[in-house]
Amino acid sequence: MDLANSPLEPDDWHEFRRCAHALLDTCLNRLEMAEHYPWKPPPLELSERYRIGSGLNSITDCVDLLSNDVLPYHTGNTHPNFFGWVHGSGVPAALLGEIVAATMNSNCGGRNHGAILMERAIVDWAREIFSFPSSGSGVLVTGTSQATLLALAAARSRSLIDVRKKGNGCKKAKIYVGTGVHNSVLKAVELLGLGADSIVRVSQTHLGMNVEDLQRRIEDDRKSGAIPIAVVATAGTVDCGFFDPLESVADVCSRMGVWMHVDGAFGAWLALADSPWCDLVGGIELADSIACDFHKWMYIPYDCGLFLMRDDVEHRATFSSRPSYLESSVAGLAAGDPWPCDYGIELSRGNRACKVWTALQMHGASAFGATITENCKQAAYMSELIRGDDKMQLVAQNVSNICVFTADASLSEDDQSKLNKKISEEMQFSGLAVLSTTHIAGRTVLRAAITNHRTKMSNVKAAIEGVRSIRDRIIQTY
Ligand SMILES: *Cc1c(COP(=O)(O)O)cnc(C)c1O
Repeated sequence: MDLANSPLEPDDWHEFRRCAHALLDTCLNRLEMAEHYPWKPPPLELSERYRIGSGLNSITDCVDLLSNDVLPYHTGNTHPNFFGWVHGSGVPAALLGEIVAATMNSNCGGRNHGAILMERAIVDWAREIFSFPSSGSGVLVTGTSQATLLALAAARSRSLIDVRKKGNGCKKAKIYVGTGVHNSVLKAVELLGLGADSIVRVSQTHLGMNVEDLQRRIEDDRKSGAIPIAVVATAGTVDCGFFDPLESVADVCSRMGVWMHVDGAFGAWLALADSPWCDLVGGIELADSIACDFHKWMYIPYDCGLFLMRDDVEHRATFSSRPSYLESSVAGLAAGDPWPCDYGIELSRGNRACKVWTALQMHGASAFGATITENCKQAAYMSELIRGDDKMQLVAQNVSNICVFTADASLSEDDQSKLNKKISEEMQFSGLAVLSTTHIAGRTVLRAAITNHRTKMSNVKAAIEGVRSIRDRIIQTY
């Protein structure tokens, strides 16, 4: 005989519904008023307040805690003056998809249900955006870090026959990267057991990879018995937003028979932008694989990355592995082959597709393209403001959405570093704007990466004025 309801279901659905509606309104207010909520430092006692207790809180208490103790302490990347690192801003449309996805609680590792079809629709859409052949394949992942791991695993499978069975052995694999390569490539190489020493850093010409050096190194390595596995071209380097010359890299890769992977974490999406910015990703369609993020420059809430491959058969040959308890069938819930688990390393996985699908259906790709273009224009405007200041100086050319600059180029490198760090911190604490820092040419510099759909030109102006006034106040004390 059944006892009571599960203790994990609401006792009182009426009360649960009332509280859930109130919480939704609080969340919507927060999104509507995003410009009033910059990052603020979490208070010291917050960890204490988050400690898991006896769990006998009422739904009203829980909703109060979520509203008062959780919602205020976010990263701040929903704010229009947030330009730190490469953080996406999160479109409200995605919230609708998230509500439904959380309700469905689908396991998107595979089987025959709607969320899988939805994910395929997104992969199909992305394949067209990047002009990949219809024989291509893809999967949604946590982010570009995971997509990079998948890409290099697939590339390794092509070069090291039987690697799934026999491992790397002591074969001398080589992975070619440009100077702006992201750390996730290094991590992937280490995780695959290829060893960090297999990374070959190709020299740079002007802003991108020197393809003559690339070709020479591949030839030399082959002569010495090494096995070139992949070239990782970066479309949008994280420090400066530079682009490797994708067409020329593709040319070398095809001549030399080496896998071409594009790390386009944010920059790949310039494919949706207006000229001249979309020209920066010309040639991306020639790659063997692409890694990029919906959660960066497509403004979709975390997390959602995309891994695309040119060849579906090769893709599944790298990852597909079904023990008996995952056998597929032609009908029923176990139908629907192939499954996402055949394309990567996750088995149980959440519904990342629904938020992306909702946002794309509601706004259309062109609205995303226009916003990406606008972000580039805002970065160009920021560069202009920096050039117009008598002390500030750009330390790298602005080509897309990133500006790296020093607040006072007349100081010594050491003093610039200290000043730029101090300005970055003060800007963050004041709620004025979030700029991060990086190291270029021997100093710490300020860095703004605009992947924010809420940003307006006035926000850019306010940020640079903030830098100027904090700088002027600090250097008075020198
Ligand atoms: C952010 C970033 C990555 C890593 O992506 P995650 O989504 O954070 O895993 C890789 N490459 C570049 C160029 C990036 O900007």
